[in-house]
Amino acid sequence: MKMLVAGGAGFLGSHLCDRLLADGHQVIALDNLITGSLDNVRHLKGREDFSFIEQDVTQPFKIEGKIDFIFDLASPASPIDFVKIPMEILLVGSYGVHNLLELAREKQAGFLLTSTSEVYGDPLVHPQSEDYWGNVNPIGPRSVYDESKRYAEALTMAYHRYRGINTRIVRIFNTYGPRMRLDDGRVVPTLIDQALNNRPLTVFGDGSQTRSFCYASDLIEGIYLAMRSSEHQPINLGNPHEMSILEFAQAIKKFTGTSSAIEHQPLPADDPKVRRPDISRAKKILNWEPVIGFEEGIKKTIDWFAAKK
Ligand code: UDP
Repeated sequence: MKMLVAGGAGFLGSHLCDRLLADGHQVIALDNLITGSLDNVRHLKGREDFSFIEQDVTQPFKIEGKIDFIFDLASPASPIDFVKIPMEILLVGSYGVHNLLELAREKQAGFLLTSTSEVYGDPLVHPQSEDYWGNVNPIGPRSVYDESKRYAEALTMAYHRYRGINTRIVRIFNTYGPRMRLDDGRVVPTLIDQALNNRPLTVFGDGSQTRSFCYASDLIEGIYLAMRSSEHQPINLGNPHEMSILEFAQAIKKFTGTSSAIEHQPLPADDPKVRRPDISRAKKILNWEPVIGFEEGIKKTIDWFAAKK
């Protein structure tokens, strides 16, 4: 099939391009490189089955020829971006998704939106299942991301219900692995970078807040299976293995062997206290669950960052 990956030079977008190409599909990657990087797709340059177009999907654009399926992974997703490029995040979740859904309509293509666990906000239900409507602050610093993704979900469902588009929605929980940006600000690259350089590991708050980390290849497999399914309702994708951020920092200390100390810093506003996916629907509908354990995944990720140094 001919696939279009918006955000194809990003962390997950580029892994998805690899996965689709490995399965014999043709891939067009679109990216405006605001947070993505050509380094992530450099190994694909020159392949006949791959093309890259530098394009901001919030602006009008045309693609020649047929497209069978559109994957929308185009959005900055790190909390440091929420304050650095808030307008871009709001626009890519609204105009960007709209443009891509219109392209799906024109090409009669399928469409998959990558949404986020952030639609659940600072959740009052734990673990989070898809039928939970969330606890989102609509005007807080995280709202530019949370609300743009919630709008994107509403838009996607409306295009499914009223325009007959063959849509999918996956809600991605914290995911990590090679190709994350070093200066991404998120806890995984930040703490690995600090550990490898023997700088203090910055734990925000007392570190009792929890996250559940999924390795990139597992997540990509889930996205791939969602594309192949015929499920239009949202599906959580993530690894239910939950840990506190303090436990995470201790694991980074252990696996890097760093001499760095843990340094507590203020907790950012509206930082979710807990997060863990209920993946019953993904298991049932997609027959999917993560296979890479935390120790294996984090060691691979540390090795990748160490090799880049
Ligand atoms: N965090 C931290 N130190 C850092 C970066 C993040 O303690 O240097 C915390 C952050 O406050 C949050 C968790 O780690 O509780 C995960 O943050 P991240 O930015 O990776 O993504 P989030 O899950 O909040 O979107």
